Amino acid sequence: MQLHLSSWPEIDAYLQTSKAILIPIGSTEQHGPIGLLGTDALCPEIIARRAGDEAGFLIGPTFNVGQSQHHMGFAGTITLRPSTMIACMTDWAGSLRRHGFERIYWLNGHGGNASTINAAITAIYHEVTFGGSGHNAPPLRCMSRNWWELSGITALIRDLFPNGEGCHATPSEISITRFAFPDLQKRADISPKVAPTGPIFDAEDFRRRYPDGRMGSDPTLANAQAGEKLVTAAVKALISEFRTFAAA
Ligand SMILES: [Zn+2]
Repeated sequence: MQLHLSSWPEIDAYLQTSKAILIPIGSTEQHGPIGLLGTDALCPEIIARRAGDEAGFLIGPTFNVGQSQHHMGFAGTITLRPSTMIACMTDWAGSLRRHGFERIYWLNGHGGNASTINAAITAIYHEVTFGGSGHNAPPLRCMSRNWWELSGITALIRDLFPNGEGCHATPSEISITRFAFPDLQKRADISPKVAPTGPIFDAEDFRRRYPDGRMGSDPTLANAQAGEKLVTAAVKALISEFRTFAAA
């Protein structure tokens, strides 16, 4: 069940059965020469929508722009200031809480978002405390999880891609988008086969260190079969974790 494909009476009815919603959250940023700009938003969206369909829980609209300052040296990247992202997430949560949601699970697809998501959850809790409704306010709990940290996924990635996984424009995430969008296979001459690794500073420095946008990865290893395995395992783990969170 997806919020943006539902009517308000359907959301009213859902709230009679559950106060929990799952929001995919990611970014719009370069993913090397063959990765889609939407990869980090698409991966959690693909996993979340399948989990929602299988288990009958509600999936919110994807929060699809995040913390991508260091990718701004590459065309197409869109980024939010941390303060903007915190303000937007707080307003999303405030809107949902106003309708009676009490559990918000953010499934994240971009490692660079993690610290800002945690700050936003702190801001959301402040909003509850300072909101004037005091101890009578309904309880609100948030949690966030990176999709690759769902139970069993790190080990599966290690099995599928023992070499060349790297940490940006990885074959695992690109496999998921290839599985979901088989017609969107991009091709490019990639050299060196495995990209360099190193630190992340700002956008100009990033482009100098990582000229084609990859970090430590060989995305030519990506394939739809691996993507299907990752999605199947992640959906199973997500259903279990979301159910526990929703019931707590
Ligand atoms: Zn990514």
